[in-house]
Amino acid sequence: MNDCLFCKIIKGEIPSTKVYEDEYVYAFLDIAPQAPFHAVLVPKTHIASAADIDESNSFYTAKIYEAIGKIAKAENLEKGFRVVTNCGEDGGQTVGHLHFHLLARRYLQWPPG
Ligand code: AMP
Ligand code: ZN
Repeated sequence: MNDCLFCKIIKGEIPSTKVYEDEYVYAFLDIAPQAPFHAVLVPKTHIASAADIDESNSFYTAKIYEAIGKIAKAENLEKGFRVVTNCGEDGGQTVGHLHFHLLARRYLQWPPG
């Protein structure tokens, strides 16, 4: 049994607001946005975290970055954006399915807290 929240979102078992989808990638609006535009991109296969990317699945990460470029164009994010992947306990990861936050439409401080 797969109890993964993002696997359920990909399957449509939990509703989400889709911003992009292809064969390998699903992207949806974050339920608790940290910027005026905040999407979450996930691979359509269960990879637990960035620490689990390897030669067998790194293809999905490339497809996610292709999708980021398409979303940035479609959403007119020409002023810039930030991509964030939280990994593990110290990284602040709360959902155990690899995901990339795409944040935009405000100035984003650096370094982050
Ligand atoms: P992280 O804390 O980096 O693991 O990111 C998980 C993200 O998933 C958080 O920004 C949450 O707000 C977001 N999230 C959790 N549940 C949902 C949901 N049902 N729909 C959309 N985003 C969600
Ligand atoms: Zn999953």
